[in-house]
Amino acid sequence: MKSLRIFVICLLLFQVSPVTAASSSPQPGYTIKTTYLYGRAMQSSPILKTLRTNVPVRYTTYNRSWSNVYIGNTKYFTPSANLKAGIPKMPSADRLRLVNKANGLPSTYRSPQLVTLTIPTVYQKGSERTLMTAEAAYALAKLYYAGRKQGHTLYALSAYRSYSTQKSLYAYYVNTRGVAYASKYVARPGHSEHQTGLAVDMTSQRMRLGLYESFDRSPEGKWMLQNAHLYGFIVRYPKGKEKITGYNYEPWHLRYVGVTEATMMKQKNWAFEEWWSRR
Ligand SMILES: [Zn+2]
Repeated sequence: MKSLRIFVICLLLFQVSPVTAASSSPQPGYTIKTTYLYGRAMQSSPILKTLRTNVPVRYTTYNRSWSNVYIGNTKYFTPSANLKAGIPKMPSADRLRLVNKANGLPSTYRSPQLVTLTIPTVYQKGSERTLMTAEAAYALAKLYYAGRKQGHTLYALSAYRSYSTQKSLYAYYVNTRGVAYASKYVARPGHSEHQTGLAVDMTSQRMRLGLYESFDRSPEGKWMLQNAHLYGFIVRYPKGKEKITGYNYEPWHLRYVGVTEATMMKQKNWAFEEWWSRR
């Protein structure tokens, strides 16, 4: 099967509309501090809003000591010191969790750290498919901006998928293509990496925002496959590892594991299962 028609199926199923979301101004960033949001860049200005701890925000620098924080379309001011706490890190057991045909997730599993991606997404922001855990979303933004610098614009197609979404997706494939096909391309509910909030399917305009094996020969895909590990991502279903991963080659599916682990897997040419069996 040279090319996949997943995108067409997605179109039929979910009425995807392409959106270019990330403008040049807001930076990808997340705060973990309680943050006071002001109407103006002055301590004497009344506090308009107080954010809870762990609320992720998009922000951009206003001047040396103040930043703008965007909540929906509203712009607030906050002391930049409030934004230096960085992103919430997840425990390594979660970050390195092995999810495959043999290892599943409970149907109720949903990371408490899901945030909306700040990079361009194929689905409208607001769709669960534009969510990832904060640490992975931040790493993906860094990958995206590094690619942009080299002239490659990547899009995120499908990131988080809940158990129930996966259930309907799997049922759709079984009904339309049969069990044998479905088992090669679509995970059973509870066995999809997308439910971890750490996986994302990437594409580009050249791929007409769809998922095709030829992505690995496109400039964007080539760049992504060569550099993803520098940002903590592995190409989860590599070519030649189908028997180990249980899935056909998917050059578009990235999984966040962290820079150290991703670099090791890239250097040793290990699939995630091989890394796990050698820990
Ligand atoms: Zn995927």
